[in-house]
Amino acid sequence: MTAPGEGAISPARVGPRLLAGGPIAAEIRASLAEDFARFKERWGYAPSLAIVLVGADAPSAVYLRQILRTCDKVGVSGRLVEIGADVTADGLCTEIERLNADPAVAGIIVQMPLPAHIPLRTVIDSIDPAKDIDGIHPRNAGLLSLGYEGFLPATAQAAVEILKRSGIEIAGKRVVVVGRSNVVGKPAALLLLREHGSVTILHSKTRDLGHHTRDAEILIVATGRPGLITGEMLSPGVVVVDVGINVVGEELVGDVDFESAKDVVAAITPVPGGVGPLTNALLLSHLLRAARDQAELGSAVAQGTTR
Ligand code: NAD
Repeated sequence: MTAPGEGAISPARVGPRLLAGGPIAAEIRASLAEDFARFKERWGYAPSLAIVLVGADAPSAVYLRQILRTCDKVGVSGRLVEIGADVTADGLCTEIERLNADPAVAGIIVQMPLPAHIPLRTVIDSIDPAKDIDGIHPRNAGLLSLGYEGFLPATAQAAVEILKRSGIEIAGKRVVVVGRSNVVGKPAALLLLREHGSVTILHSKTRDLGHHTRDAEILIVATGRPGLITGEMLSPGVVVVDVGINVVGEELVGDVDFESAKDVVAAITPVPGGVGPLTNALLLSHLLRAARDQAELGSAVAQGTTR
């Protein structure tokens, strides 16, 4: 398959290249399944991923089903910790601290959004950075912004990884990110900068969105606004990564209006089936790293060889 911009046939005549996350995720999962089996052989237990769910909403339910299925596929025990929406901030932090202290739990994710009465910062701060496999703790966010190796927010990483693994050059390109959340837009922009893209970040207060999006050679969209980006806001030949997952009626749709975009773009991630599957596979690769680090640290402590 040719990379966008290569070859003699224009994208408008053959339709866009679909950047599917499924096959890439399947490759990562296959190697993770072997790695987790080796982990279990060496350390005598299978590490758990704890998913803390406070209350429930529709997108969370979709996401949770996917992540639990991915856990099954690689031999990790996904532990759903369901907490009532009326929990206090203290109550929730106590639950997270219990998971921090549980040696079988290698990674913790807290499903967002949280009920309005719970201060997000308090909850994020209570997660042990060594178990923060979705990179939301200030320590991991700080490491990312300085270019050091912490845990990366998996969705942001997936948005960049799908480009890299599809052979799309980022270095030197005009890359536009729509959305500046701490979990997707901002970390994606930092990762794209790390890949030497010339990055512009747009957000809800940006004036004339289309003026900026039309400048993009690569466009990453993470807004949670179904169909926000339409074909007339894109320049021909752009590569689009649609991170949005929105439940509209019975359907899952992205933030890009696929119908009007498909005749303009060179390549685009489908929704569903683009960034989503890759996100979960990467998250579990972080879990493996966390589990190994914790097991080795535990063993060093037991032998008195920590520095
Ligand atoms: P968020 O609500 O925290 O942030 C949305 C961002 O979009 C904000 O920075 C806001 O400024 C910007 N925005 C909102 N309306 C806009 C507008 N009209 N014009 C320009 N910018 C606008 O959302 P989030 O957590 O970053 O998630 C974004 C999307 O990604 C959602 O659809 C979410 O479901 C999806 N998501 C997907 C995955 C995955 O695995 N693919 C994982 C997490 C989130």
